[in-house]
Amino acid sequence: MFENLTDRLESVFKKLRGQGVLTEENIQEAMHDVRTALLEADVNLGVVRDFVSKVTAKAVGQDVLDSLSPGQQVIKVVHDELVRLLGSEAQPLKLNGPQPVVIMMAGLQGSGKTTTSAKLARLLKGRERRPLLVPADVYRPAAIEQLHVLGEQIGVPVFPSAAEQNPVDIARAAVASAREKGQDTVILDTAGRLHIDQELMAELKAIAGAVSPAEVLFVADAMTGQDAVTVAGAFNTELPLTGVVLTKMEGDARGGAALSIKSVTGKPIKFVGMGEAMDALDVFHPDRVASRILG
Ligand code: GDP
Repeated sequence: MFENLTDRLESVFKKLRGQGVLTEENIQEAMHDVRTALLEADVNLGVVRDFVSKVTAKAVGQDVLDSLSPGQQVIKVVHDELVRLLGSEAQPLKLNGPQPVVIMMAGLQGSGKTTTSAKLARLLKGRERRPLLVPADVYRPAAIEQLHVLGEQIGVPVFPSAAEQNPVDIARAAVASAREKGQDTVILDTAGRLHIDQELMAELKAIAGAVSPAEVLFVADAMTGQDAVTVAGAFNTELPLTGVVLTKMEGDARGGAALSIKSVTGKPIKFVGMGEAMDALDVFHPDRVASRILG
């Protein structure tokens, strides 16, 4: 089990007590532990390197505050920088454009798109919005069925798409239907693949082009720490992503994927999935995830 980083740094810095400022040498030693903590939290190596050099530059020369031990102080610098990079504040969904607004979900197969679509619909329904769930994964009839089951469970209508239809046509028809019925939020669950695939990207781009989503949310599994970077980078290059949902955060994942994905895409993490249940979707709080990454 991972030893608490604060405790570890405390021992590194014990000999430093009473000194006035943090020197480059002290910091180098501490950064060794910070680097290990980040890698253990599954943060991508390149992201760790950048982070460590940034934090080193910030910490060197700082006065040691009276109220903190040097170890605590380095932790504070590291923690604050993590929070800053993770986005400082929770970012709300943009739902104010012309109604119905479209929220498009994108990500690899199994990342949690269908589940998150339904969770979001439930959350928005609770905020007095009238969502319409739209299954557009025509390659997996089971995915369409899954969304119908979830929609029924949470009392949100599901657009009757059929597997023989083209996903772009489904998206257009769903928006037209929502407009007609006064549903103000269209949540589009799109197809995923096991790996990044140009054909799929072309399809997702075509859907986005056809219905101009206000939000394109990249859904990623928090357990896929290292891979998350490549996948997130590819989706971000191809699609106009507006945010990220990190799923399966209730388990052992230390949350390093959050930092990696935010660093690579620059897009805010908006929600975290905390389980399979429909109410297991939390607004992303950078502060909580930073503490978790640090262990
Ligand atoms: P999709 O292929 O991207 O649509 O992924 P699904 O929504 O079908 O999810 C794949 C699996 O992950 C399902 O068994 C979900 O119940 C599960 N899942 C989704 N989100 C979470 C989460 O936040 N926590 C956990 N533990 N499981 C989740």
